[in-house]
Amino acid sequence: MAPPRTYHCEALILKHVPFGEADLLVTFFTRERGKIRAVARGARRSNSKLVGHLEPLTQVNLSLAQGRGGLDHVSQAQLMESFAPLKDDLKAITKGFYVAELVDGFGSEAHPNQPLYHLAVAALNAIGQDPESELSLRYFELHLLKVSGLMPELYRCVECRKDLVPGSHRFSPNVGGCLCPDCRPADAHVRPLSLRALKVLRLLDRSQLREIPSLKLSDSLAQEIKSLLSMSIEYWLDKQIQSNSFLEQLHLEEKSSVYS
Ligand SMILES: [Zn+2]
Repeated sequence: MAPPRTYHCEALILKHVPFGEADLLVTFFTRERGKIRAVARGARRSNSKLVGHLEPLTQVNLSLAQGRGGLDHVSQAQLMESFAPLKDDLKAITKGFYVAELVDGFGSEAHPNQPLYHLAVAALNAIGQDPESELSLRYFELHLLKVSGLMPELYRCVECRKDLVPGSHRFSPNVGGCLCPDCRPADAHVRPLSLRALKVLRLLDRSQLREIPSLKLSDSLAQEIKSLLSMSIEYWLDKQIQSNSFLEQLHLEEKSSVYS
């Protein structure tokens, strides 16, 4: 019998769940192949060579063997980055899991997205360096939408396409971003958007994560930006989950039935 085909990936570990008697089913977001779920056989046994190498929020070099039923197996995992500063701080690790959850939600199986991979790694590093900064999470949320092709329009009205000039703008993820004061499409999710919030969103859009100045935002402005981005993330995540989950569930059931 031909040996199983093996391949190598660079990956972030998003989560794992117990699988079978001593295995783990691990969700990776890989640089080369997008999201992958693979079985780490025997990884819950204390003498497994994989013990300690498959913790969530870890970047690894992976070797995988193609399973006969389509569910691949982890044959080796070499640590690249453990994000130790992030794991030393409860607030930071909570933010790290939020990043992993969103990458899991927006990442697709069999659809590589290298910008998303690099964004997630950069965000985990930034959170570890400054666990108190909320702005690095806002940056991650906005750029997550951008690299997923779902960036809200911040420069022109999504209805009339006129450049936005200072005024009473509004925002809605349903219509794709900002609206000028004259355009009023029937939409239940329109929210007011302050000029200051628009400026901060544009600044986040145009900056590199490492370049984000330590902006001091008032509580109300920080809350407004957080709320606008959360609304956008939830809107698109619902759609993403609806479109992905059925296919992914089918995919997983198909693999599980052959594997068992
Ligand atoms: Zn307009």
